[in-house]
Amino acid sequence: MENCIFCKIVNGELPSTKLYEDENILAFKDISPATPVHILIIPKQHIESAKDIDSTNSVLVAKCFEVIAKLGKELNLDNGYRIINNCGKDGGQIVPHLHFHLLGGIQLNEKIV
Ligand code: AMP
Ligand code: ZN
Repeated sequence: MENCIFCKIVNGELPSTKLYEDENILAFKDISPATPVHILIIPKQHIESAKDIDSTNSVLVAKCFEVIAKLGKELNLDNGYRIINNCGKDGGQIVPHLHFHLLGGIQLNEKIV
């Protein structure tokens, strides 16, 4: 998708610090980390947001969660972490390419908002 910054990261047009990559999924460090560990996990395919998940692409969401579990083990986040998806304007989504935030390395507050 033209003008999508995450598609540009996928295509190598923008730099990123990659932590995992395969043919379908990319994980890279958030440029403005909110916690000591802050990774974004995305499908390479441009899916705008979680509201666009359906039976044709949900396998990519499952793969994102497989990568999250793998990274959690590799980074020794044994005490857990938080996975966030911001969906649409009211959900606080800034970048319109489906992504999951993996936040960890600190004890997070139990409140969601
Ligand atoms: P949101 O769309 O609100 O779920 O969050 C978008 C996230 O993307 C924010 O945490 C940003 O810090 C992050 N971000 C924006 N541009 C880049 C970039 N070029 N590389 C890595 N992370 C980015
Ligand atoms: Zn995109």
